[in-house]
Amino acid sequence: MNANGVAAVAKSYQTFNPRAYLQNNYMPPRANFTSEEFAVPWKLRCLADAFATGDIHGRTLIDIGTGPTIYQLLSACDYFEEIVATDYLEVNRAEIYSWVHDNNVGAFDWSPYIQHVCRIEGKGEPWKEKEQKLKKKMTKILPIDVHQPNPLGYELSPPANALVSAFCLEAVSPDRPSFDRALRNVTTLLKPGGHFLMIGALEESFYLAGEAKLSVVPMKEADIKESFANSGYRVRNFRSYDMPPSLKIGVDDVQGIFFIHAQKSA
Ligand code: SAM
Repeated sequence: MNANGVAAVAKSYQTFNPRAYLQNNYMPPRANFTSEEFAVPWKLRCLADAFATGDIHGRTLIDIGTGPTIYQLLSACDYFEEIVATDYLEVNRAEIYSWVHDNNVGAFDWSPYIQHVCRIEGKGEPWKEKEQKLKKKMTKILPIDVHQPNPLGYELSPPANALVSAFCLEAVSPDRPSFDRALRNVTTLLKPGGHFLMIGALEESFYLAGEAKLSVVPMKEADIKESFANSGYRVRNFRSYDMPPSLKIGVDDVQGIFFIHAQKSA
């Protein structure tokens, strides 16, 4: 393992500022709900479509590297009894805790996201109901380190029915072998036959979160598909999004976004 590289990544995250990260990625112009040509609605559409198939369901869903965000869990919440958020940093776990428990006082305002997801799911669900349902299901917010063979620090029994992860593995891995190892580590949390939905950055080398400048391992479509295949998955769906010039706003050098739905061998 590239222990020096992993240690350097861990150090760089110590100045990660959740509020700056949210401002850069989860406010306009990237969070513009008027069209799926914008990055945020594109991601929400990928997740809504994947869960609408009805194939992905069960008792437990784990989100790997939740960060300070919950958008990635909105369409999942109808299909699982329990949704587990995880992050390496206490500041991010605190941000999620605040949204779940503090009745939105001081927490980031996810209401435009929840309203948008209710709209695109088309089930006529009132957004406040979805918000309450997700909060109720988020009973655990756990520390995680994807570079450990046991990322949660203990063996999960029974393993999760599904995993979600957004912009985590490529953003915490110093190189491709480290990404692959992290993918194999988190795969131990998933039951055979379970589903993994991952969203991430294409061909990105860095992003900013306040004072922190985080290195990212640049990934292409073929790399991602290969990593999943080598970790014992069958790729069920892959989509990509080209970052339009209007959304290249100096907070990273991301060229696009990928979405992959992969299923672990039974
Ligand atoms: N999932 C969120 C999203 O979609 O915007 C946040 C992604 S952010 C780019 C990367 C996240 O990985 C951060 O929340 C960071 O704290 C977390 N992280 C850093 N090191 C990690 C590690 N070793 N294991 C798991 N997560 C880690």
